[in-house]
Amino acid sequence: MTKIGWNFDNSYVRLPQSFYKLHIPKSVSAPELVIFNSSLANFLGLNGEGLRSEEGIEVFAGNKIPEGSEPLAQAYAGHQFSHFTMLGDGRAVLLGEHITPNGDRFDIQLKGPGRTPYSRGGDGRAALGPMLREYIISEAMHALGIPTTRSLAVVTTGEPVARESYLPGAILTRVAESHIRVGTFQYAINFGDEGDLRALADYTINRHYPDVKEQNNPYLSFLQEVIKKQADLIAKWQLVGFIHGVMNTDNMTISGETIDYGPCAFMDTYDPATVFSSIDTQGRYAYGNQPYIAVWNLARFAETLVPLLHEDQDEAVKLAEGALSQFAKLFESNWHRGMRAKLGLFNEEEQDETLIKNLLELMEKNRADFTNTFRALTLDKIDVSELGQKEEFQSWYKDWQARLEKEGHSKVDVHELMKKSNPAIIPRNHRVEEALEAAESGDLTVLGKLLDVLSDPFAYKEEQGTYCKLPENPDENYRTFCGT
Ligand code: AMP
Ligand code: MG
Ligand code: MG
Repeated sequence: MTKIGWNFDNSYVRLPQSFYKLHIPKSVSAPELVIFNSSLANFLGLNGEGLRSEEGIEVFAGNKIPEGSEPLAQAYAGHQFSHFTMLGDGRAVLLGEHITPNGDRFDIQLKGPGRTPYSRGGDGRAALGPMLREYIISEAMHALGIPTTRSLAVVTTGEPVARESYLPGAILTRVAESHIRVGTFQYAINFGDEGDLRALADYTINRHYPDVKEQNNPYLSFLQEVIKKQADLIAKWQLVGFIHGVMNTDNMTISGETIDYGPCAFMDTYDPATVFSSIDTQGRYAYGNQPYIAVWNLARFAETLVPLLHEDQDEAVKLAEGALSQFAKLFESNWHRGMRAKLGLFNEEEQDETLIKNLLELMEKNRADFTNTFRALTLDKIDVSELGQKEEFQSWYKDWQARLEKEGHSKVDVHELMKKSNPAIIPRNHRVEEALEAAESGDLTVLGKLLDVLSDPFAYKEEQGTYCKLPENPDENYRTFCGT
């Protein structure tokens, strides 16, 4: 038998017991491997052949607990659409933390293996389509250079799950630096004592931000670092038009990884009000709102740390507010740097803000596609687009060219910067749907091709051409769903 190479060291079980419930998933009847991520397996130091073997698949299905794993469901709370509630892993089980040959630590989590002590009314299960969707989009995000949880495998369970109709059940193996969320801290402060809160904070600092221990006020530095990470993450989302869709505080990680690919989708037409999620009727999590929601969530995080920030709680609140006030500045400077790079600008000049704003306004007014506009600018083919034909755009284009000339970099350098800053392709909604439909009827080739193209989004290859195209009949009413 091929050795798989699992190497578990489960620090989470050493937290106070209230943070989790040990829980062995119930076996499923007929697991089958649908998709497997060889390059991620390699990165983790795991043996691909072993993982694809019967024994490996039994692990992905929750039927076999590998040596060293101590399966558990994590406790957490959270604000869902601003309403605070107790949650926890209702349909996920953490197998443990795998240590790679380099000594890096990753959570290995099964998503969809059945009920846990936190399932409330839910069945703890997941359907094939949404798990493959998470696989596609999380791996696309990774290839775009955006911090994210990743997907190692999807297996079908052989058991139907009841939704509006019966759907094939599936389990996703999710890999993350950790699954500690803003909601985990909210759980600690609302349902635990100060000892629990301190234990969680120290644990998280050790795991993700060990350098802050050297600082005068490690808990304040911790808060500042988390704010910095999120300001970086959200700017990256905005720069590629990623809409998370359900930025509840339980879906914001402390590690700064994107998590929870339920109702997310990429924006086509540039419009800050874009919303895809069927349940986000108020547009709380619209594209243009994401930075504001991030800081709202971070404020909830900062509140949980107040008891640790200063002996004097008034002082502690001031420190928390000071840290939060940095978010806007950090986000703006990341975003502006990113937007300048998208326009091939290496340096910063005062007029850039106006140049960027004017372009976005023209894109919005003319309902231009976000990704394809920057792609066309990169390829110097904007003149043939609908936007490029507009007189007001041509005047913007002249300003842009003048700004580039002023900077004086070679055409080649500008083109290279733009190529690595503007993805040629993103997971277009109709392409994702097409791949899922084919996969659900047993044809995995469409999915395979899509994953292949998405794995190199900055390649600007000929064969990516058809993946850049918009659907023939654009579906303005495209809707996404969570919890399916
Ligand atoms: P989400 O909207 O994915 O962030 O999930 C919110 C909460 O609902 C989390 O506590 C999940 O574990 C839980 N949940 C989602 N789907 C299910 C399900 N099918 N069964 C049980 N719990 C679920
Ligand atoms: Mg969630
Ligand atoms: Mg979800």
